[in-house]
Amino acid sequence: LPPLPRRPIRELPDELISQIAAGEVVERPASVVRELVDNALDAGATQVTVRLLAGGVRLISVEDNGSGIVRDELHIAFKRHATSKIGNLQDLESVATMGFRGEALAAINSIADCAILSRASGESAAYLLDGRTGELSPVARSGGTTVEVKELFYSTPARRKFLKTDATELAHCVEAVRRHALARPDVGFAIWSDGKLVEQWRRCEHPDPMTALDQRLADVLGSEFVERSVVVNYRTSATRSDLTPTVRVWGRAGIPDAARSRADQQFCYVNGRFVRDKVLTHGARSAYEDVLHGHRQPVYALYVEIDPTRVDVNVHPTKIEVRFRDSREVHQAMRHGVEDALAAPRAALAEAAAS
Ligand code: ADP
Ligand code: MG
Repeated sequence: LPPLPRRPIRELPDELISQIAAGEVVERPASVVRELVDNALDAGATQVTVRLLAGGVRLISVEDNGSGIVRDELHIAFKRHATSKIGNLQDLESVATMGFRGEALAAINSIADCAILSRASGESAAYLLDGRTGELSPVARSGGTTVEVKELFYSTPARRKFLKTDATELAHCVEAVRRHALARPDVGFAIWSDGKLVEQWRRCEHPDPMTALDQRLADVLGSEFVERSVVVNYRTSATRSDLTPTVRVWGRAGIPDAARSRADQQFCYVNGRFVRDKVLTHGARSAYEDVLHGHRQPVYALYVEIDPTRVDVNVHPTKIEVRFRDSREVHQAMRHGVEDALAAPRAALAEAAAS
C-alpha cells in the first residue's frame, strides 16, 4: 500500500469537541431527559416537570424548583468541563451528586437549540440564557430552573436518522424518568407529552424510607408489584473482619410467582444512581436459583448503599456503569439480601403450621 499522505495534527474547535462528547452521552431524547433530571435532583428540587413534544425530538423541557443558577454563572453552565459539583480529585473519589463531569449541558447545547431559564434562591429576578447566541434576558418565573432543548440532532442528521417513532422515543423518555422516580420518593414528578399529562407521581414525605418507597413503587409500577414482593433489608456484617466495611442492600424483591418473561422490572441502584451492572443482577438472580426455572425473570427494586470510595462511578460517560472495589462483597450482599427476604415468609408459614 502507498503511504498515506501526511496530514498536520490540529487541535479541534470547541464546538466539534462538544459534538464528539455528545455522541457518547446523547443517544436519543431519553439521554437528554436523564441528564436534565439528574441536574434538577442535584439542585435539590422537590418537584420536576418534564414536557415533551414529538417524543422529545422537537422539545424537551425540564423544569425544577431547585436552587437555581445565579445570573453571572448562567453562561458558565453551558461551557465544557464546567461544574459546581467537584473541585478536585478527592471530591471525584467520594462524589455524592448525580453529575460531576460538567459535560452534559455543553454537549447537548452543541447538538440542539438550548436555553436555560433560572432564578436562584434568594434572588428577586430570573434570567433566560440563549445557548446559541449567549444572549441574556430577564424573564418572570419562581425559584428554580428550566432547561429547554429544541430540535435535537438538527446539526447531526446521521444521528437523527437513528431515532425511532415518536411513541418509542416517548416510551424511553418515560422510562428514564421512572428510573429517577424509583430512587426519589421524596420528589414529585410529572411528564407531559404533546400537551397531555402522561404520568404524575406525587412526592411522599413519609419519614420512613420503606413506607415512602412502597408508595412510590405502587404509583410507578402498580400496587401488584408491592403486593407480590417481599421487603429486603440486609447489611453485611462488619464484624467478620475490621477490614470489611458494610454494604447495605434494601428495597423489594418479587416473589417467584411475580416473575416475568422479560427483565423489564429489574431496577438496581447504587447510592441512589440507577445502574446496569452484571454483578448486581447476577447476585439477585442467584437468589432465585432454586425457585425460578427456565428464562423467567424476577422483578425487583434494590438499593445498594456503599461507601462512595469503594465504587468508581467514573467508568462510563453516561455513568450507567460502575466498578466496585470488591465486587464479591456486593454480589454476596445482593444474593443474601434477596435470599433472606424470600425465605422469611416461608419460615413464618412453617412456624405457624408447627404451632
Ligand atoms: P454536571 O451536572 O456534571 O455538573 P452539567 O453540564 O450537567 O454538568 O451542568 C453544569 C452545571 O450547571 C452544574 O454543575 C450546575 O451547577 C448547573 N446546573 C445545571 N442544571 C441545573 C439545574 N437544574 N439547577 C441548578 N443548577 C444547574
Ligand atoms: Mg449534569
